[in-house]
Amino acid sequence: MHSTERQVGALHIHSSYSHDAEWPLARCKEVFKREGYHFLAMTEHAEGLDRERATAWLEECDRLSDPEFLVMPGLEFSVGRNIHLLGFGVRKLLPGRTVEALIDQIHEAGGVAVWAHPLPAAMNLIYPAAEALDGMEIWNSRYHKGSRLPLRLLRALEKLRETRPAFHGFAGIDFHKGSQDRRLSVAVESPRAASALLEALRAGRFTIQQGPLSIPSTGALSLKEQIRWMLQTSFLKVESNAVSS
Ligand SMILES: [Zn+2]
Ligand SMILES: [Zn+2]
Repeated sequence: MHSTERQVGALHIHSSYSHDAEWPLARCKEVFKREGYHFLAMTEHAEGLDRERATAWLEECDRLSDPEFLVMPGLEFSVGRNIHLLGFGVRKLLPGRTVEALIDQIHEAGGVAVWAHPLPAAMNLIYPAAEALDGMEIWNSRYHKGSRLPLRLLRALEKLRETRPAFHGFAGIDFHKGSQDRRLSVAVESPRAASALLEALRAGRFTIQQGPLSIPSTGALSLKEQIRWMLQTSFLKVESNAVSS
């Protein structure tokens, strides 16, 4: 039986099933588990997977999952040059080639549809898609390096939620390489099972965690908290520079 407890998860993880990522799936599990995580939301690049490879990947995700740690399958889909859509929980390749089709198919496959690392140039495309999306990344530590507060994304989230309260802010590590900072997590009160975790992510029942920072999925921070976040993230920058020098 799974009891409901606090699950710490790493979202947006690539293993060597993705063409540009370093670690085999088993190593991802081993290291993240050791660092205190309970689940991984995998997001392999769908473009590099054919049916055979996708089957092997899926079997390995399931084989590595046990009551103590969940390797949750999921995919990342590219649309055109600048748009990446995450399908947390998606267990099969999807035929869609447009944002609208892919969001529908992610949902039909039981997944959670999240716009990854929104670029400033793509923001005008998110607004029309937001009606169907479950959310977007407001913090991607590969793009934002844990150092620059993506305040523009908090503002955009606030605006999007005025008309779509079910649109949530997510955080992803976008993990590709062992040298990346892995201290960006989500905390979810849920049983450690994919269906329950996906339901919680879809409903925004999670908080983004980095060190002492806790950011609700609504992104609704008071001005004081925003300033604290800004100070904290510039502190992290100093800290990570110190570590690497
Ligand atoms: Zn991406
Ligand atoms: Zn990615």
